[in-house]
Amino acid sequence: MDGSKTPAAAPVLILLGPPGAGKGTQARMLEDSFGLVQLSTGDLLRTAVKAGTPAGKAAKAVMEAGDLVSDDIVIAILRDRLAEPDTAKGVILDGFPRTGAQAEALDALLAENRQRINAAISLEVDDAAMVTRISGRFTCGGCGEGYHDSFKPTAKDGICDKCGGTDMQRRADDTAETVASRLEAYHAQTAPLIAHYDQQGALIRIDAMGAIDDIAGQLAAIATRVTA
Ligand code: ADP
Ligand code: ZN
Repeated sequence: MDGSKTPAAAPVLILLGPPGAGKGTQARMLEDSFGLVQLSTGDLLRTAVKAGTPAGKAAKAVMEAGDLVSDDIVIAILRDRLAEPDTAKGVILDGFPRTGAQAEALDALLAENRQRINAAISLEVDDAAMVTRISGRFTCGGCGEGYHDSFKPTAKDGICDKCGGTDMQRRADDTAETVASRLEAYHAQTAPLIAHYDQQGALIRIDAMGAIDDIAGQLAAIATRVTA
């Protein structure tokens, strides 16, 4: 860089919230309407598990038990993904950071790139509802669109509304038993980050118990404001 002109830093949004809060659903809607790139460490890890990479091999059993994958692995995966050129448009982090060490690593990484966190949005929900939400959800293997048996069914049975695909997938860890561990991990290790971002002045809390479109509207308003 010649230093004569610094381009505007690409926006960084973080979605915080327990499993089932709707981070993935909302991140995808923001991606579509704001041209941001969704970075889901859960998706990146599932890809690594499928591909059988060393990181994937180490993560598989941990994920199936509903525990958190080690910081080293997750931070390395995220760092590599952030180095890909498409993320220059700006990113929505979905499922990262999840621990204090990950939050610190992210702060350092962004500082290196002269970026900052525009907003850390906490999706606030009741734990009790998360079990129902998670046990009914499924995803289109073709395009990644998320669905739910009761709350967001496909228009035609077994056919994706978005891409017409028929390869509907349910996650191995979306069972009532693992949801309990995942909620516990969230409260013990991730919820404390809410205070971290509050101190940075980046925290925005929203009530995420309402309708998907309603929450999407609130998030779009926030994204418009913080990326302006
Ligand atoms: P959810 O938020 O619904 O639990 P994710 O797809 O974000 O779903 O994560 C699924 C699993 O992947 C987690 O339970 C955990 O094992 C692992 N994982 C994802 N992101 C992280 C992370 N940032 N740190 C540690 N483990 C992670
Ligand atoms: Zn699809």
